Amino acid sequence: MARIVSLTGVSKVYSPRVTALCDVTLQIERGEFVFLIGVSGAGKSTLVRLLYREERASSGRIIVNGYDLMRLPNAQVPFLRRRIGVVFQDFKLLPRKTVAENIAFPLVVCELSPREIRRRVAELLEVVGLKSRATARPAELSGGEQQRAALARAVINNPVLLIADEPTGNLDPENARGITQLLADINRRGTTCVVATHSEQMVNALRRRVVEMVGGRVVRDAHTAVYREASPGPGADAERGLAFAAAGAGLRSGAGWSTRAGRR
Ligand code: ADP
Repeated sequence: MARIVSLTGVSKVYSPRVTALCDVTLQIERGEFVFLIGVSGAGKSTLVRLLYREERASSGRIIVNGYDLMRLPNAQVPFLRRRIGVVFQDFKLLPRKTVAENIAFPLVVCELSPREIRRRVAELLEVVGLKSRATARPAELSGGEQQRAALARAVINNPVLLIADEPTGNLDPENARGITQLLADINRRGTTCVVATHSEQMVNALRRRVVEMVGGRVVRDAHTAVYREASPGPGADAERGLAFAAAGAGLRSGAGWSTRAGRR
């Protein structure tokens, strides 16, 4: 089965006045790296929350890793989530547990042997560069270190799908770059990644598939893409119109006042 996520005509209505997603159709193949981009309120978080059944869609069809999420009984949701890793903007580490215990947590829940848990935690600590911080508590870590621990915890179960919702939202540019590279590494090891972000730097650094949302709809789906399209958009049309009008009035356009404003 090559397809890991399939959304067909999915809508999410929170209330009569709030439609967060409107008729979204999106297919994601195994091994892909997909950025979900868009301004705040575009529907990115709602879409990712549907994928691990944190929210239920109002209509449409959602298949994730073979599970039909519109029909999946609540009792089976843990089986779906066992194969999905999730990372959030605010890390959500357990404050009383050490870094190693946080990373081990999903394996403890799955009742793996202590020896196997130790082996996998040591390997992951190495991958995310936190070997020397294994016994620290989350409050003693920097934001970047906390997010690396959260990433390690999210992938320790070898998930087929990693979902990250604004993973660099609370980080400075250097730590954001580190997390971006770690996500790329995780993807190279075979995990499908879906990353909701409005970080232009992150998207442009990796140049992967970009799914852009506006007002709950998918307005662009492009492979090896950057945050902003280079091709002329509506802003550029306005720009040409202005240039045309200015030329007609015997003026030169463009000097000083940014013609890019229409695209922001
Ligand atoms: P994004 O992640 O792109 O910022 P969201 O999915 O969080 O977008 O939000 C999309 C829309 O749905 C917004 O109008 C937001 O206010 C609304 N919304 C999100 N979550 C809820 C909720 N739990 N209850 C009601 N409205 C919500």
